[in-house]
Amino acid sequence: MANNPTANSSISHRYHPTSGREVPRFAGIKTFFRLPYVDVKEDYDVGLVGVPFDGGASYRPGQRFAPVGVREASSLGRVFHMGRMMAFTQKLKVADVGDVPTVPVDLLKTYERIQTWFGNGLALGKRFIAVGGDHSITLPILREVRKHVGKPVRLIHFDAHLDTYPAAWDCEYHHGSFARHAVEEGLIDAKGSIQIGIRGPLAGGDDLDFVKKHGIRVATVDEIRLRPGLEGFIKSLPDFGDDPVYISFDVDCLDPAYAPGTGTPVPGGLTTFETQQILRALKIKRLVGADVVEINPAYDVSDITQLVGLDVAFELIGLMAESKR
Ligand code: MN
Ligand code: MN
Repeated sequence: MANNPTANSSISHRYHPTSGREVPRFAGIKTFFRLPYVDVKEDYDVGLVGVPFDGGASYRPGQRFAPVGVREASSLGRVFHMGRMMAFTQKLKVADVGDVPTVPVDLLKTYERIQTWFGNGLALGKRFIAVGGDHSITLPILREVRKHVGKPVRLIHFDAHLDTYPAAWDCEYHHGSFARHAVEEGLIDAKGSIQIGIRGPLAGGDDLDFVKKHGIRVATVDEIRLRPGLEGFIKSLPDFGDDPVYISFDVDCLDPAYAPGTGTPVPGGLTTFETQQILRALKIKRLVGADVVEINPAYDVSDITQLVGLDVAFELIGLMAESKR
């Protein structure tokens, strides 16, 4: 898509969305936020990259269509954040860098491709926000982020699920086990990490043993909504200071009313407003990467979940704009 040099003309780079006042929002070829689609080696700061893969889904597949779905919803993407009083285009060059070439019938081959792609991209000095994909795609990304950063990162993990589950059907790698592998492989600093939006039902009480043993903080929906409630919860969030942080946002942290298009919906979740407030309150000086996963357009209604994915990406770009790599 040709970008529009007249939009925000005071900022002289080419990474501006096509203006909806020049080209109607329903027109044109769809990219994330109507941003230029560029080669990974170009001179942007933050790349939005699709990871279309659902070979790790245990229940409802279809997350492979999320990058296309979020690009479709990007017709309504805008750049000015009212909470931050800032257009991300003033602080960052953001681009659509396309999709990682996945292997739809092979999870381990897909992991190799994701690692190669992110390894090369991170070596170029870029930061990325990945649009999944089921949650199994986060593990290979974290492996490369860990290598690049040189130490374990603090994980902020939005999810209904702990994703610390054991092997299933004799398979170690699936969308419910990325967080366990991330701890076991030394990719994340468990005691400095937090899981937000967790709720039952669980298969058994021992599902909580892993997070207890490793000291991961678990913030349940009850904690966020009732005791102490949203404001108290936000006040209790740590200041991440200069520590490297990675944010992984599984849309099923939201209630199915707010995100019906997902692989493993769980009733009783967060509202979009609550997750926006939490994302806006995070104090991070060094955000090294992020993803939004588990959007499943096949089960979406009126594009609700695809729009949420776009909105989460918008908040993540805002956090990237206020932090360095
Ligand atoms: Mn998950
Ligand atoms: Mn989940």
